[in-house]
Amino acid sequence: MKAYRYRIYPSNKQKVRLLNQFKICKEIYNMLLNENKEFMTISKFDLISIMVDIKKTCPSYYYQVHSQVLQEVGYRLHYAFESFFRKLKEKKAGKKIKVGFPRFKSKIRSITYPQFGFKFLNERKLKVSKIGSIPIVLHRIPRGKAKTMNIKQNRSGQWFASFCCETETQPVKHPSAEKIGIDVGINNFVTLSNGETVDNPKFLIKSKKRIKLLDRRLNRKKKGSANRKKAKFRLARQHLKITNQRSDFLHKLSYRIAKTYSFIIVENLDINSMVKNHYLAKSISDASWGKFIQMLSYKAVNCGGQLVKVNPRGTSKTCSKCGTYVDMSLSKKIFHCPTCGLVLHRDLNASFNIYDRAGLAQISTPVDDCVRPSLLKAKVVEAGTICHYE
Ligand SMILES: [Zn+2]
Repeated sequence: MKAYRYRIYPSNKQKVRLLNQFKICKEIYNMLLNENKEFMTISKFDLISIMVDIKKTCPSYYYQVHSQVLQEVGYRLHYAFESFFRKLKEKKAGKKIKVGFPRFKSKIRSITYPQFGFKFLNERKLKVSKIGSIPIVLHRIPRGKAKTMNIKQNRSGQWFASFCCETETQPVKHPSAEKIGIDVGINNFVTLSNGETVDNPKFLIKSKKRIKLLDRRLNRKKKGSANRKKAKFRLARQHLKITNQRSDFLHKLSYRIAKTYSFIIVENLDINSMVKNHYLAKSISDASWGKFIQMLSYKAVNCGGQLVKVNPRGTSKTCSKCGTYVDMSLSKKIFHCPTCGLVLHRDLNASFNIYDRAGLAQISTPVDDCVRPSLLKAKVVEAGTICHYE
């Protein structure tokens, strides 16, 4: 499975239709949740039959949405319940997690056509059932058969269509046989075991002033006014810019590493528990190591390489030459070994240790890390009506 995302440019009329569909989907979701709250009969079949009953109450209204799109809304709720019960089980088993009952939605920002209802008319037009033909920019050609399509509007008003395509992946051979150990950090975003470092661009921290300014302007505007709406939009755009900058940086860096090295070794970090440390939280989420490692893992697989996660315990406090454990504070940048006299940057020392631990690690090849689980779960027997480019 491979996911592609493209920008689409719906006309004003089409936007109205799309937003109306979001609204109907939200209503259906909340109605189903309301029905299920008491009985919690979460079988998919039950949900769908309840939905059919709801649809009968006002057929012309619900007819505005493609039937499969509505069905997918039912599935969403089903997965929400599934994940709720799974987490409940895990919590009972002693895992420390928060478990929340599925909540009512105030907004749904995307709809999914799980199988039918969309088609490429040509390379610039996407025909979507109940919406019309929407201009699309195929900045790259999708490969394989598109199984599902998701239409989404982001917070700054841009529209996107994502396709989940089934591809027959042929095993590729990585051109190089080189190994590399990678340490991720706050000052240096990555330190490679060959000595190369990449600075942390700290996009969020750099834009802090601007965000603060826009935030202040927003708070000064009267609630419900048009100016407030505009200010909100400007703030959302700034956040979007940061997200885009970050994702661009992460994609380029991870691609370069995945292309150059066939065997990549990283620490198996528990990022959720690290973010709980308030002192580091902002820097860590700005750095988005989790996203980086995820990208690295699927890009490595696509290039024919491998990504290996190793135990992170004490990687920066153990001498990479003789194995002596040296207790040092986070603020200390230089590692100094009292036994063998090794002196080097702490991150580089860590990357050497990570490199050395690969022999002990389990090899993982998470191919589908990049695809949202809900898309994967949408099982499709026959291919959609999309034409596909090879
Ligand atoms: Zn030493």
